[in-house]
Amino acid sequence: MSEHDHHCDRQECDFSQDGKFCEMLDKAGVPRDNKWRTLILYMRGLKDYAYLSEIQKGQIQALLVEVLQLKDFSDDKFNEVLLRDREILVAPYEQRLKAALQETVVLAGEFKRLVHRRKGEVKQLEARSVEAVISGQDPEEIVSMLQATFREVITLMEKDTEKLDHLSRTDPLTGLNNRRAFDDILARSVRNWQEREIPLVLLMLDIDHFKNFNDEFGHRIGDQALTTVATIIRKSIAAFGGEGMDIHSCRYGGEEFAIILSGDAAMVGADLALDVRKRMERYNFVIRDSNGDIMRKGISVTISIGLAEADVAWKGAYVENLIDAADKALYHAKRSGRNRVAKHGISGAAEEFSIIAAG
Ligand code: GH3
Ligand code: MG
Ligand code: MG
Repeated sequence: MSEHDHHCDRQECDFSQDGKFCEMLDKAGVPRDNKWRTLILYMRGLKDYAYLSEIQKGQIQALLVEVLQLKDFSDDKFNEVLLRDREILVAPYEQRLKAALQETVVLAGEFKRLVHRRKGEVKQLEARSVEAVISGQDPEEIVSMLQATFREVITLMEKDTEKLDHLSRTDPLTGLNNRRAFDDILARSVRNWQEREIPLVLLMLDIDHFKNFNDEFGHRIGDQALTTVATIIRKSIAAFGGEGMDIHSCRYGGEEFAIILSGDAAMVGADLALDVRKRMERYNFVIRDSNGDIMRKGISVTISIGLAEADVAWKGAYVENLIDAADKALYHAKRSGRNRVAKHGISGAAEEFSIIAAG
């Protein structure tokens, strides 16, 4: 045991097995209050959790710095910090739940409508069959008539299934692929890359300061801005993705989007990212009130983009590594000033980032 450990024991610091931590907190002016010390140690440890995004880690880090600077170690502050920590941790899950709920409502409505319609058709089929049987027609004719009607209903039902399948993979707000579809497409693309060496690039896009936009104009207008962003992404893809180009755009969650580029399309990943960034910067958002009258115009919303390429150096867990790499590049773009595209790279064993376009 070191001298620090004894010192800690005497003063009833619970972290006697980690003398350095105890000393560091003393220096930072944190009282020997185990509840505060536990919370700070825990928040400090969160940076090693793989399930947190870089953005979340940054937010936790900022909260920790704030606590240490403010030096308000009251119970009220403790509760506030706990609450904010919780908000940061659950935000992505809340967003996904909200999206799932929205989707489910749309799906349930469509399902009900289809079932209702098909029920009518099946009833009709039944009536026609009974009619045919009691009409005393040639049995062969009756059978072929019944077969034809059945086939008709089956075809319609197959179309229903396709429609529901499409709906279950589509984000209702923007019409882009939803997170479920994204997961499938990315898994498939990674398999193609692994097994057939088909190049693969992932772009992660996140609107800059979107919280401010929502705070200023409200959530409804915020949602409209999200659909505009989706339209801009589609336009950009249309400009780059011609015949046979394998490009998929997705709403990854909330105000985050993702674009998966496979094969020849992977070569234009960077150009596509630059194009989306530029189109966003140039686009003039017009805000209208509920009567359709213009309230504000000339508003620019920018976007930051992270780009990563599948890399054999990862030696496994390629899906997760690819998402992490694009996420880190995105975070780098944010940190470097936003409204830019950053690319993830690997040099030897180390990761490196380069800004390939800035506004
Ligand atoms: P940054 O530049 O760092 O990305 O800043 P930010 O404000 O965009 O980042 P942050 O992740 O803190 O906030 C994202 C905000 O996006 C929070 C929420 O207000 C908004 N948002 C997320 N999902 C939706 C949505 O479905 N509709 C609307 N209108 N807003 C959303
Ligand atoms: Mg975000
Ligand atoms: Mg954002």
